[in-house]
Amino acid sequence: MRNKAFAKLLGQLKSLTPFQKEKLQLSLDHHNAMDAITDEIDAPQSCPHCSSTDHQKWGVRSGLQRYRCNSCEKTYNVLTGTPLARLRHKEVWVDFAQDIIESKTIRESAKHCGVNKDTTFRWRHRMLNNPKSLGARHLHGIVEFDETYFLESHKGERNLERTPRKRGGSARKRGISSEQTAVLVARDRNGNTMDAILFKSNQYTLAEVMLPVVDKDALLCSDRKTSYRAFAKKYHLTLETINASAKVYVKEKIYHIQNVNAYDSRLKAWMKHFNGVATKYLESYLGWMRLLDREKNLTPAQLLGIMAKRGMVCQPLMRTQPTFITIINTP
Ligand SMILES: [Zn+2]
Repeated sequence: MRNKAFAKLLGQLKSLTPFQKEKLQLSLDHHNAMDAITDEIDAPQSCPHCSSTDHQKWGVRSGLQRYRCNSCEKTYNVLTGTPLARLRHKEVWVDFAQDIIESKTIRESAKHCGVNKDTTFRWRHRMLNNPKSLGARHLHGIVEFDETYFLESHKGERNLERTPRKRGGSARKRGISSEQTAVLVARDRNGNTMDAILFKSNQYTLAEVMLPVVDKDALLCSDRKTSYRAFAKKYHLTLETINASAKVYVKEKIYHIQNVNAYDSRLKAWMKHFNGVATKYLESYLGWMRLLDREKNLTPAQLLGIMAKRGMVCQPLMRTQPTFITIINTP
């Protein structure tokens, strides 16, 4: 726009009514969010409906370039087939992404974004779909691992079979039970972190989640739990165990599990401020925490880019599965 025309436009802004000013602000915010998204996400190379690469541009709608597939004749945009497809109120997505970076609660975020709680709840779970499937794919060097437990929570669910527990509280039994969910956390000294929800803790479930990501030459560090030692022995892995009950916390100055324990404590403290997380959403929160831990200087635009990436799959959390689940990473 020419300087003269721009000056004229600025002059005209004065005559806008408060309602029109608000509409203008929303429109600018919307364009900022869409610019952020299109900067971060590449245009689809193929049709999300039929995979054909033969397409043409088909106008712009809601600030997003549309494409029309020449094979199936369906139209799509950069968000079609991503977790962000068809979500509304794009003008506040940048604000919402900032809330995720700041770990705001559903309620705080709804207030900040000016939408209702159901909307921020739906957004949170759609937008965390990708982060939850992004774990470390490779742990090497010294790899510390440990299990941490979360009280089973049916927050938000009706028709409970048992009497609800007061917020907080503690489990009656130690270890994995109907009252607690175990999360295995493995972390190397470069801060790469993998976690997995375990439905059982034994050498086989450990193998299932650890072997795909842990380097064969890695040096494992853990506490002296029998299943950890059995796992290392069976798969010929080097394991240094820490005997905390004998108050030996560090061996030969380098073998310890203080990094993974510190991560577990941060995770627990962080989860606490959400006033309990329903077990069925635990995976999303684990992914969220990993993301914040790994990406210290993430911008809202970069975060939207991650959230809208195509083709990330995460195996659903299924309580009926006999043993455990694995968080699957796909490129
Ligand atoms: Zn097509």
